[in-house]
Amino acid sequence: MVLHTVELLKKEIPLEEESICIPQDLTTGLVLVDIINGFCTIGAGNLAPREPNNQILEMINESEKLSRLFCDHKWPVLAFLDTHQPGKLEHPYPSHCLAGSEESNLVPALEWLEKEPNVTIRRKDCYDGYIGSIREDGSNAFADWVKTNNIQLLLVAGICTDICVLDFVCSTLSARNRGLLAPLQEVVVYSRGCATFDFPAAAAADTKDALAHPQEIMHHMGLYMAKGRGAKVAKNVSFGALKK
Ligand SMILES: [Zn+2]
Repeated sequence: MVLHTVELLKKEIPLEEESICIPQDLTTGLVLVDIINGFCTIGAGNLAPREPNNQILEMINESEKLSRLFCDHKWPVLAFLDTHQPGKLEHPYPSHCLAGSEESNLVPALEWLEKEPNVTIRRKDCYDGYIGSIREDGSNAFADWVKTNNIQLLLVAGICTDICVLDFVCSTLSARNRGLLAPLQEVVVYSRGCATFDFPAAAAADTKDALAHPQEIMHHMGLYMAKGRGAKVAKNVSFGALKK
C-alpha cells in the first residue's frame, strides 16, 4: 500500500536525478548534515531509529565514502552536529541531542573526521544549518567557511532529507542568490547520501499531535523541494581527473 502511494507520488511529481561529474577545476566543499547518533544510531534517543533502517545505513555508507575521498585530497568538509542546551527545547521536537551527550556526536563510522585538518565541525541548535551558523556577533561560520575555502560547488549529504538538509539547502540557495556566498555557484544534493526517518501514518494515528512521516515519500519530497529551489539532485557523483 505504501509502495503504491510512493509510486503514484513519483508519477505526479517526478524527480530526475542526475549523474554528476564534478570538473577538477571547480573547488568543491562537502557539507555533512547531522550524521550523528541521535538521528542515526538505534536507540540513541528520542529521535533515533528504533530498528535497523536501510535508507539511513546507505546514507552513512555513502557519506563515509565521500568523506574519505575529500579527506584523502584535503578538500574542505563541514560537518553540522545538532546540539542543544539542556532545558532549551527545539519546538516542535522532543528533547534530543543534548550538548555533551553521545547523541550529539558523529556516528561511529564518521568519528575519525574530528581529527582531520580539512574538516570543520559546527555544532548548531536549530534545524537550519545556515541559521545555526550565525555567531553571537552576527557573522556566519558557514559563509566564512565557503569564502575562506573559495568553494564554488557544494555537495550536501545527511539527515533528514526533508528537514535539516532541505532547510539548509534552501537558505544557502537564497543567500547565494542574494550574493552573500560568492564564489559559490552550485549546490548539489547527493540523494543516496541523504536519508530521513520513518514514522508511518498508522503509527502517527496512535500518537497525540504527531505528524505522519512515511520515509520514502518524505525523502522524495525533500529532494523534490530542494530541486525546486534550484539545487541539483544527483544519485551518482564522480570527479574529473583528481586534483593533487
Ligand atoms: Zn535539533
